[in-house]
Amino acid sequence: MRLFRLKSELEQFLQNAWKQDISIGFVPTMGALHEGHLTLFRRSLQENRLTVGSIFVNPIQFNNSTDLEKYPVVPEKDIALLESIGVDVLFMPTAEEMYPEPPKEHYDFGALESVMEGKQRPGHFNGVAVVVNRLFELVKPTRAYFGMKDFQQLTIIQDLVSKYKIPVEIVPCAIVRESDGLALSSRNMRLSQQARQIAPKIYDTLRRSLALKGDDSVANVQKFVEHQLALEPAFELEYFELVDSKTLQPVTLWSGKAGVVGCVVVWLDGVRLIDNIQY
Ligand code: AMP
Repeated sequence: MRLFRLKSELEQFLQNAWKQDISIGFVPTMGALHEGHLTLFRRSLQENRLTVGSIFVNPIQFNNSTDLEKYPVVPEKDIALLESIGVDVLFMPTAEEMYPEPPKEHYDFGALESVMEGKQRPGHFNGVAVVVNRLFELVKPTRAYFGMKDFQQLTIIQDLVSKYKIPVEIVPCAIVRESDGLALSSRNMRLSQQARQIAPKIYDTLRRSLALKGDDSVANVQKFVEHQLALEPAFELEYFELVDSKTLQPVTLWSGKAGVVGCVVVWLDGVRLIDNIQY
């Protein structure tokens, strides 16, 4: 695996692939890699001649400095993992390399960012869009792989690509879970042993709420999830929203062209856990 820390080195290396029209799969991450990330990489390896990954804990997408400081950083382990599955190129820039000057770009995703993560974390999606667009400009990938775990992020990236006519295919990838249902996340490693035992109740609740869809109203499913999560005193629910999977706007009825997604954020043991389910 080739490891680059400078944009110029990466660009130099990719010249050949661009000239020869070799397909490039790209997987942007913030590191502390787990099986969820590796699934994205494996898919890229299958579908492209060259797979490029990036590890960059993007400071401008954190609206909470403690969250940024506590974000796990394990570069040696990450490098070894990516090498072991045959990833071709890893780009690991410093913040100075990505942002020699404070970024000035401002993206407007309208209603897509006025809900859920966008509402709770002001500036978050602008930070995501700035880094993803810069990385796309740098790598010029044929395909880019994003997890459905960050459902709103995936929708915003799809909007970014379509609005700015960026020539890349966005490939959504299913959520990878532990055997007990907990969605894999770099943040899980910060959970105490006790909290780790409780955490699967989030997905368990979402899964059980699916069964209600047939007979119950959207409002009742909302109440059911909120009630079940409140039964666990260690949970602090930030939000649970039932939204249209395309517009991300709250729904009141199950009928609609696009599906309905239930998006949840729960705090546990000082860790912010995100998950979702398709109804
Ligand atoms: P992150 O390093 O958290 O920014 O995540 C990098 C990419 O991996 C994003 O597209 C995430 O949605 C995706 N990802 C993270 N966790 C999972 C998971 N459990 N299943 C599928 N994709 C994931």
